[in-house]
Amino acid sequence: MLNEKDKIYSNIYGFEDVTLKGAVSRGDFSDIKNIIAKGKEEIINEVKSSGLRGRGGAGFSTGMKWSFMPKDDGKQHYLVINADEGEPGTCKDREIMRHEPFKLIEGAFIASFAMGATACYIYIRGEFFREAEALQRAVDECYEKGYLGNNACGTGEKFDFYIQRGAGAYICGEETALIESIEGKKGQPRLKPPFPAMFGLFGMPTTVNNVESIAGVGTIMRRGASWFSGIGRENNHGTKLFGISGHVNKPCVVEEEMGISLKELLEKHCDGVIGGWDNLKAVIPGGSSTPMLPKNLCDVAIMDFDGLREVGSSLGTAAVIVMDKSANLVKCITRLSAFYAHESCGQCTPCREGTNWMKQIMIRIANGQASSHEIDDLLEITKQIEGNTICALGDAAAWPIQGLFKHFRAEIESTLKGGM
Ligand code: SF4
Repeated sequence: MLNEKDKIYSNIYGFEDVTLKGAVSRGDFSDIKNIIAKGKEEIINEVKSSGLRGRGGAGFSTGMKWSFMPKDDGKQHYLVINADEGEPGTCKDREIMRHEPFKLIEGAFIASFAMGATACYIYIRGEFFREAEALQRAVDECYEKGYLGNNACGTGEKFDFYIQRGAGAYICGEETALIESIEGKKGQPRLKPPFPAMFGLFGMPTTVNNVESIAGVGTIMRRGASWFSGIGRENNHGTKLFGISGHVNKPCVVEEEMGISLKELLEKHCDGVIGGWDNLKAVIPGGSSTPMLPKNLCDVAIMDFDGLREVGSSLGTAAVIVMDKSANLVKCITRLSAFYAHESCGQCTPCREGTNWMKQIMIRIANGQASSHEIDDLLEITKQIEGNTICALGDAAAWPIQGLFKHFRAEIESTLKGGM
């Protein structure tokens, strides 16, 4: 259980002053000149040794990612912050933009400086209208008071922060599709390599990081790598924002330590599952693309990267979707299949055709209209898509169905016979 003093986000619910004055009074931007004076290499090393892993889903070492940027190549470098947050169930980054925007701007300045970037673009999903407004207010205030611009925070360093709003396509959360979209093109993932660190935004070296990964950087630099790495388990360090929805008594976004058990997370912060723990049927632990866990695995699930891998799922964005015994899992996954089919960008055949086939079969199963062989056809299609596409949307569409098969095949078969 996380100590209050170890929280990064002391105003995540917006109960306190959300202006620059309020943020500064809570410690944001304190010591910023000394942090920048440490120099690029030391900042990257500190973030590496903190053990911070990307909070957008992939869980790659943030400091390591920064170190891939070329050094002294004379080119413009960019930091791009991914605030597309389109994964169903995920709702944590919007709280940072609404209530802790200065932490994000501060972290962006430190990260950009460390990577030799003088500008940062943040890509905010189109539906986050109020979040974009709140962040724009914060950016304007920072320019007005000298925290951004040619002499950002009085450090002598130039740093500009641009807000780009998306138009609602899920695939623009994929980093190269996001870059294409900022450039004014159709939001479709690029073939990799080249990776963004070599050829990113406007063809320049670019690192794309999640909102939460960047917003915690200022606090990590102030409190030190050992503070952050002292929270959580080996290779799974620090605090984490969890977004919990579905069949709990009190859905919420909450900051907790990595490695908390799923049961404690739900009982401590959400007043438990509706009808009690024994009424739990399944949990999707990390956003809609992560395989669901049946109750017996929820009993033992540890909420960090390795803990969820050990039970056959993934931490993803830590968006926990809880389903009690009233949930029709076939219907739930059918809905997700329709979502992924709709959001496929259409570039690669397995995803373009396969997501639609999966949706159609799921609908037929849910309506009791499928032939029995279609159950195995469906599983085979998920395996043909997985790993055979340009970006991870193909996997994201396949895994929820595979999770359903793995743990609830009997429910699929009984739905097939009876319909919904
Ligand atoms: Fe587009 Fe799907 Fe291919 Fe990704 S996997 S590039 S979303 S068609």
